[in-house]
Amino acid sequence: MVILGIESTAHTASVGIVTEQAEVLGLATDMYRPTAGGIHPREAANHHVAVLPGLVLDALERAHVRPSEIDAVAFAQGPGLGPCLRAGATVARTLALGWDRPLVPVNHCVAHVEIARVLSGLDDPMLLYASGGNTQVIAHHSGRYRVLGETLDIGIGNFLDKLWIALGGTFPGGPALEKEARLGAELLSLPYSVHGMDVAFSGLYTAALAHRASGAARPDLAYSVEVTAYSMLTEITERALAHRHRERVVLGGGVACNERLRTMVKTMVEGRNGTMFAPPPSLCVDNGAMIAWTGHLALSSGLSVPVEASAVQPRQRTDLVPAPWRSGGALGVRPAPV
Ligand code: AMP
Ligand code: MG
Repeated sequence: MVILGIESTAHTASVGIVTEQAEVLGLATDMYRPTAGGIHPREAANHHVAVLPGLVLDALERAHVRPSEIDAVAFAQGPGLGPCLRAGATVARTLALGWDRPLVPVNHCVAHVEIARVLSGLDDPMLLYASGGNTQVIAHHSGRYRVLGETLDIGIGNFLDKLWIALGGTFPGGPALEKEARLGAELLSLPYSVHGMDVAFSGLYTAALAHRASGAARPDLAYSVEVTAYSMLTEITERALAHRHRERVVLGGGVACNERLRTMVKTMVEGRNGTMFAPPPSLCVDNGAMIAWTGHLALSSGLSVPVEASAVQPRQRTDLVPAPWRSGGALGVRPAPV
C-alpha cells in the first residue's frame, strides 16, 4: 500500500508518499516565509494554493510512483489555521475524487507522534511535541492520545520567533537563536514558569526584552532563553514520565531540531535509564510523510471519510480524536497503566 499525505496546517506546505512499512518514498516541502513579522493566515494559504500542485508532482516524481499506484490520500484536518487547512484539504479532496481513492483525515499532532513512534521502534513512547504553534506532552491511553501537559499561552516556537524578531532578527527565530546562543556565556536570571505539567512563555518574553533594554548582550540572552525554556520543557516531560511510569520519549515539532533541547531531554531520560529518540529534522518539522503514515494507520482502522464529511477542524484537540489502531497491531500492543 502507498499513501500520499498533505500537510498545510501553518507555514509549511508538504506532500509525502509513504509505504505501509513506513518507508518515505518521496517528500516535497515548501515553507511560506513572511516578509515581515509573523505568519499571516491568508497569505500563507495563498502560498499553499500556489505550491501544492507542484509539490504533488514533485513528490510523485521523487517517489517514482504513478498516480494509479497511490492507494489513499490523507490530509491534515486540524489543528491549524483555517485558510491554510482548507488549501490542503481542497487538494486532497480533488486528488481522492479524481483518482477514486479513499480520503483520510489526520490529526496533525497525532501524526507527529506516529512518525516518531514508528521511526524510533519504541513501544508506547511519550512525545514531547515542541513546534511553532503547539507545545504538548502527549501519551497514549485507552484508544486515544492524551495531553498530559501543555503551554498555557503560546507555543515554544512562536515564542522563539516572536522574541528573535523583537531582537532585530527575522522569521524563523528558533534556528537563528540557536546559533546566537552558542556564542553566549553568561546565564541571566529569567522567569521559570512551570505549573504542574504545563508551561508558560509570556513572562519569559517580557523579561528577556527587559534584559535587552538594560544592555544584556544578545548572545547571552539567547543562551539564557534556551537554557530556561528548554529546562522547563525537560522538567514537564520528566514529571509526565514519573507519573505515568514510563521511560521512553520521542521528540517532534520544529523546535525538536534544536541540539540543546535534544541533549537536555536525552540526558534526563538516560538518567532514568530510559531511551530518547528524535527523528531527523525533515521529519521533525511539519511534513507530508507523517500525515501519509498516520493516514495509513487510520485507514487500517477503517477511518476514511466521504468528501461531504471532510471539513477541516482548526481547533481539533489531540485528545478528541480516536486512535483505534493503537489497540493492537505493530507497536500498538502495551495496555497503558492508569
Ligand atoms: P513546526 O511548527 O513544527 O513546523 O516548527 C517550526 C518552528 O520550529 C518555528 O517556530 C522555528 O523557529 C522552530 N525551529 C526550527 N528549527 C529550530 C531550532 N534548531 N531550534 C529552535 N527552534 C527551531
Ligand atoms: Mg507541527
